[in-house]
Amino acid sequence: VSTQTIQELAWQQQGACWGTDPQLFFPERGGSSIEAKQTCRGCPVRLECLEYALRHHEKFGVWGGLSWPERRRIRRP
Ligand code: SF4
Repeated sequence: VSTQTIQELAWQQQGACWGTDPQLFFPERGGSSIEAKQTCRGCPVRLECLEYALRHHEKFGVWGGLSWPERRRIRRP
C-alpha cells in the first residue's frame, strides 16, 4: 500500500461506519441500504467518502450516503 493510498483513505477512521458491520454498507443484491444511508447522514467525512467513491468508480456498496445507481446519476446527470 502506497503512502498516497494511506493518505487517501485517512478519512475512513473518522467515518460513522468505522467498526460497524460492513454488510450493512455492502448489502446483498436486493438487500436494504436504508440503515447504511441513515448512518451516512450524520457522518463527518461524508464528502470525502463520496469523492473517493466517485474518483475510484466504486460500483458496490453505499459510499457518502449514496448507492451505485445514485452515484452514477450524479456523475452523469
Ligand atoms: S459517508 Fe457513510 S460510508 Fe462513508 S464513511 Fe461515512 S458512514 Fe461510512
